[in-house]
Amino acid sequence: MSAVNKVLIVGGGIGGLCAAIALRRKGIEVDLIELKSEWTVYGVGIIQQSNVVREMAKLGVLDGYLDAAYAFEDVAIYGPAGQQLARIPGQRLAGPAYPANVGISRLALHKVLSETALELGANVRLGLSVESLKDLGDSVEVVFTDGSSGGYDLVVGADGLFSKVRDLLLGDTYTPRFTGQAVWRYNFPRDPHIDHLANYQSADGNAGLVPLAGDLMYLFLTSDEPTNPWMDPATLAEQMRQRLHGFTGLIGELREQITDSGQVVYKPMEVVFVDEPWYRGRVLLIGDAAHATTPHLGQGAGMAIEDAIVLSEELTGEGSVEQQLKRFMERRFERCKYISESSVLAGEKEMQHDRDFDRIGLVKQMLARTAEPI
Ligand SMILES: Cc1cc2nc3c(=O)[nH]c(=O)nc-3n(C[C@H](O)[C@H](O)[C@H](O)COP(=O)(O)OP(=O)(O)OC[C@H]3O[C@@H](n4cnc5c(N)ncnc54)[C@H](O)[C@@H]3O)c2cc1C
Repeated sequence: MSAVNKVLIVGGGIGGLCAAIALRRKGIEVDLIELKSEWTVYGVGIIQQSNVVREMAKLGVLDGYLDAAYAFEDVAIYGPAGQQLARIPGQRLAGPAYPANVGISRLALHKVLSETALELGANVRLGLSVESLKDLGDSVEVVFTDGSSGGYDLVVGADGLFSKVRDLLLGDTYTPRFTGQAVWRYNFPRDPHIDHLANYQSADGNAGLVPLAGDLMYLFLTSDEPTNPWMDPATLAEQMRQRLHGFTGLIGELREQITDSGQVVYKPMEVVFVDEPWYRGRVLLIGDAAHATTPHLGQGAGMAIEDAIVLSEELTGEGSVEQQLKRFMERRFERCKYISESSVLAGEKEMQHDRDFDRIGLVKQMLARTAEPI
């Protein structure tokens, strides 16, 4: 009999939902609690690269996921006026019949994952968090914020950057750090040329265009914001346009169409990396709770999804919970540390305006590393 038969997942984001799906597919009972009482996500998109497409196949959601996404092959890197500097062919890691990469709206991804988790029998409760966790050695006693309680073989903290489970487990040893940059995003009708991931480099920041659907793409921009200023929501469109001043070509044309401040999604970059095992006893952190990084390599959610799959594989493997979680860490730690550190490094090089930094080389290296089996 497996050591873990009943799991509590704290957090119904990408990592928590993938963990719920993966564990339910292995026959493990899953309770999932989500802090938000309205279970929704903000309306921009996300890049999912070939390693993620491979993991979506393992999760058994690939067909519904691809129906909701825009599939593409290559990643191209351009100069600020749109001149191509590199084109990196995609790798079809899920098999020759499936695309290399995907762009998908966060809402569409949430729908596919949440519907699958519910269909598979995950017991989801919204508007709820954990009040306290007591590890009894062979189980964890959980008191919820509504005063109810429950006993679990394992508690998985998938509650993101400001994880409460991390606080309960490790105190204030790890707190999110602002890196000095922010990300701006805006949706547009898809330009016919944007049938691949298009990155544009300039001296003042990096922009990109990501296809999300036949008729939708989004523009992202990274900018240096050393003082982490408060942004007046009414000025976001103007501020985003200002920060795109160094671009011409397609990005320059799109810049002039950024007029609705209500549609600009602005986010300061904050990171945290738990630089030691992500578990104590029977409580484990996954995803951003353990390793939130900057979006420079587009792999944060990818790492959360991989965590979920590896966890389900190890929990149904041999040995005690301690041995299972130790093996989980052996498969996850260095890979996530590499993504976390490389993403932060890419941001630091942008802030230093380091023209010698080989970003194309880093992207190629990241794609090769993440293509390796986990
Ligand atoms: C600007 C930006 C762009 C990005 N682009 C990409 C990209 O293109 N590709 C990519 O792979 N990654 C990208 N990422 C990273 C990606 O969004 C994250 O790595 C991913 O969302 C992590 O998933 P998660 O489930 O660990 O955390 P989250 O998605 O943050 O989910 C955590 C969930 O837990 C809930 N929660 C929080 N606290 C509690 C609590 N106390 N109790 C219960 N529930 C709680 C939250 O409401 C949320 O639903 C980007 C990140 C940023 C900031």
